[in-house]
Amino acid sequence: MASESSSAVSAVSPVTAEELTLTVKWSGKEHTVRVCCDDTVGELKRRICEVTNVLPKRQKLLYPKVGSKLADDSLLLSQIPLKASLKMTMIGTIEEDIFVDQVESPDIIDDFELELEETVDIKDKEINQQKLRRRIEQHKIVLRNPCRQGKKLLVLDIDYTLFDHRSTAENPLELMRPYLHEFLSAAYTAYDIMIWSATSMRWVELKMGQLGVLNHPNFKITALLDHMAMITVQSDHHGVFDCKPLGLIWAQFPEFYSPQNTIMFDDLRRNFAMNPQSGLVIKPFRKAHANRSTDEELMKLTQYLYAISDIDDLTLLDHRDWEFFDLKSFKRRRRNA
Ligand code: MG
Repeated sequence: MASESSSAVSAVSPVTAEELTLTVKWSGKEHTVRVCCDDTVGELKRRICEVTNVLPKRQKLLYPKVGSKLADDSLLLSQIPLKASLKMTMIGTIEEDIFVDQVESPDIIDDFELELEETVDIKDKEINQQKLRRRIEQHKIVLRNPCRQGKKLLVLDIDYTLFDHRSTAENPLELMRPYLHEFLSAAYTAYDIMIWSATSMRWVELKMGQLGVLNHPNFKITALLDHMAMITVQSDHHGVFDCKPLGLIWAQFPEFYSPQNTIMFDDLRRNFAMNPQSGLVIKPFRKAHANRSTDEELMKLTQYLYAISDIDDLTLLDHRDWEFFDLKSFKRRRRNA
């Protein structure tokens, strides 16, 4: 009898993502969130953010008998004895002064660089594919402007890519990367543009509005995405971290976008972990006051976007070599291949 019950316990497959519904008390109200055991604490905080609007980094979670475990965002929920019958308490406030908030806060995760070979392992892991499938089901991208037939897709990070969020200035335009409007206007002729930031939608809208990106006569932004659209992935060498899976966009707009016509700019390679080939690591724009007069990254990238805009299949490119790209020699190589 004893051996029978122990085998029943161990029969749970580690690959099966067991779902759990948790009750979270916050500000006198109860909310329910659904998570999986292979989610992290960081993922749980994102689910809580969905129902409360309290940013993950603002949340302090309290739960019986778990001590300070819920302060570690990378911890898997399976390592914490959570029960659906017990209620969790969240303490945290909705950010009021978003600029103060952003300037004070340290970067969420230490920067680390992934090797391309490593990202291949990450995207192929079944557990990460499962997370992507769940995000596709749960998160619907809201279009600000219709997708345009025949256009490619350009996905852009904000912080350090289009804007220096760590410097301070009286006018946010002083922190805008040089040539931003020229770059977006030029790109728009051949690409639909989506902007995807790891911060909150409120911050994305505020920042892009202040930089004059949302109401420009020469280009329209197809969609804005924030941290809620990201997934937490597991890797062999860097533990768990968040990334921006383009598969979410490809699954929701399959008649318009695919790996063949999408390119994404970000200053962190790890954000491309689920789609390494589509990512181009942009030089970070930091110290805006010192570098504003010399930074030409967006101008150079405009030329690259133009050069590759007639190529039917962007998966043939290695964006690590973008600065040396030559369309003629690319075509010659293709003919000879
Ligand atoms: Mg960035």
